[in-house]
Amino acid sequence: MKVPFLDLKLQHQAIRTEVLAALADTYDNTRFCLGKDVEDFERAFSATFGYARTLGMNSGTSPLHIASLCGGFGPGDEVITTPFTFASSCWGISYVGAKPVFVDIDPDAWCISPEAIAQAITPRTKGIVVVHIFGQPARMDEIMAIARQHKLFVVEDCAQAVGATYRGAPVGSIGDCGTFSFYPTKNLGGCGEGGAFVSKHPAVMDKAQLLRVHGSPKRYLHTEVGFNFRMDGFQGAVLNIKLKRLAVWTARRRAIAAQYRAGLKLAAVQLPVVPAYGESVWHQFTLLHPRRDDLRVHLEKCGVGTEIIYPGPMHRQPCYASLGYAAGSLPVAEQTSATCVSLPIFPELTDAQVDHVIKSVNSF
Ligand SMILES: *Cc1c(COP(=O)(O)O)cnc(C)c1O
Repeated sequence: MKVPFLDLKLQHQAIRTEVLAALADTYDNTRFCLGKDVEDFERAFSATFGYARTLGMNSGTSPLHIASLCGGFGPGDEVITTPFTFASSCWGISYVGAKPVFVDIDPDAWCISPEAIAQAITPRTKGIVVVHIFGQPARMDEIMAIARQHKLFVVEDCAQAVGATYRGAPVGSIGDCGTFSFYPTKNLGGCGEGGAFVSKHPAVMDKAQLLRVHGSPKRYLHTEVGFNFRMDGFQGAVLNIKLKRLAVWTARRRAIAAQYRAGLKLAAVQLPVVPAYGESVWHQFTLLHPRRDDLRVHLEKCGVGTEIIYPGPMHRQPCYASLGYAAGSLPVAEQTSATCVSLPIFPELTDAQVDHVIKSVNSF
């Protein structure tokens, strides 16, 4: 039996007719940049999860850039973040000339450690970029307590966590703002690039909206140096259709994760921990094993696709060499990167395929 790590074709075949009809309507009405499809999506996204407002954007990286500007980050400022993430979590900090300060992660849920944040605070600390990694909410109460004490601006990178909740609240609504990606491989993926920005502060939303389209409150008036971060109409049209199905897809991811957690019995394997405070949306199902590379070869032979997410933590990437983090400086993140392997988890997997993955892992 073959179990690919991810197969996007299945999902897109299932909704092909509906999506192509919607795209044709967008085309025929030339709603190419923002417009009704994007506005409908923004409203539906807000209503589905409980955000006051949502701004559609052209990627998941652009709202992180805007978040840094809304937080007032700039040269001379330090912003604390996690090294165990996709690179673009850090880009927003670097784009505005601030300095990313990497701190270690929790050894069980792999999100940023609040204790490590507390130790890294200096008079220059201006904010925190939290990442809800693999769809698992970070420990927001502890993080927000530190932020309140030191007057820090908290960005939640929710690129992998659309629909996840922390003590009942949707991720992105707890900190000062939240950012999403609709890259095709995300839990809610467009047919191309896309992203979104949310904030509980109306003034932050207004500023983000201004920056999204050329710093322009009205045509040919520019009150700020802005960007072109508009979501395109085609993505809005696709995302409207997919958003209606997301709850079913998320439930399926949770069922697969439960099947994995009940069935995986391999000695020396560390399974993802599910903290009681939150509900994960299982963007990845990742386990740790001391012989991770051999395990991958074995799974490959069994027809099971896997990925290493992430093989190199950000504090050790060449682009941040000048920050001077030595090998061993953030041991939990480095150890996690060295031993992690992600199993297939996408809604279209069959129970038999999930069973095959479990048997293949257990037979290692
Ligand atoms: C995918 C991702 C992003 C960036 O999204 P793009 O849409 O590719 O720009 C940011 N942060 C995390 C954690 C991601 O997984």
